[in-house]
Amino acid sequence: MGTLKGSIVFITGASAGIGATTARAFAREGARLLLAARRLDRLEEGREGLLAAGAAEVYNFALDVRDAAMVESAMAALPEEWQPIDVLVNNAGLSRGLDKLYEGKREDWEEMIDTNVKGLLYVTRAVVPGMVRRGSGHVVSLGSTAGEMAYPGGAVYCATKAAERLITDGLRQDVLGTAVRVTSIDPGMVETDFSEVRFRGDSARAAKVYQGLTPLTPEDVAEAIVWAASRPAHVNIARVVMTTIDQANSIMFNRK
Ligand code: NAP
Repeated sequence: MGTLKGSIVFITGASAGIGATTARAFAREGARLLLAARRLDRLEEGREGLLAAGAAEVYNFALDVRDAAMVESAMAALPEEWQPIDVLVNNAGLSRGLDKLYEGKREDWEEMIDTNVKGLLYVTRAVVPGMVRRGSGHVVSLGSTAGEMAYPGGAVYCATKAAERLITDGLRQDVLGTAVRVTSIDPGMVETDFSEVRFRGDSARAAKVYQGLTPLTPEDVAEAIVWAASRPAHVNIARVVMTTIDQANSIMFNRK
């Protein structure tokens, strides 16, 4: 098993859900955490807990991954000691709405595509050249079972996750020979703020998504991310597809 102690782990969307929990899991490994999200206050609230959990250091900064110029300037402005990123976790992402495609809102489509696809590309483009130069690094991106099979009302979100799968696959080919590793972690339903964000704060509707079944927890996903990142340097985990026992694919659930 490779050690993560002292490694620089950069997580986008670390202010909530899977990202925040993944930060905690890497903290337990003694990593140095470089954390970004739009809500800097939320990141700052988590700092002490991460240090107490074992993080060697924590550096938080505000970032909107949809803003290409901001991504470029924020990454270039990082203190030199935070530049050699060992692990990038492309986690920032969201879904908006559950409308039929032909009734969908253009602003919802744009927000999902700008965040989940273009944001992923901007951050990857800013970080991977340094990994290639140094001859080491690992890009772990959050895909989804939604990227494999669409579900009703989810066409655009599912398409963004299908894009993630193929961008990840293409990146793995492009870095072949550089020792940079590339992984997609593809969970099914995980209970986080995801549904609340999807339904713009309608908590009753969000709660229904998880009713009558046991969803994955953010800890389940964080464990898979840390596991992939801690394999020996010659082992590349290409994809981890994981669901709760109550989910078979994007559309089949066992609700009690
Ligand atoms: P979440 O609890 O809503 O957290 C999403 C995170 O992304 C937040 O920290 C949010 O931070 C950040 N984010 C959103 N837009 C951003 C932007 N423009 N720039 C920077 N950060 C941004 O949702 P989650 O479930 O943890 O989702 C994390 C990832 O897992 C997403 O890529 C999602 O598609 C994927 N995923 C989730 C599930 C699920 O069922 N929950 C299943 C499969 C895959 P700020 O709002 O502070 O910016």
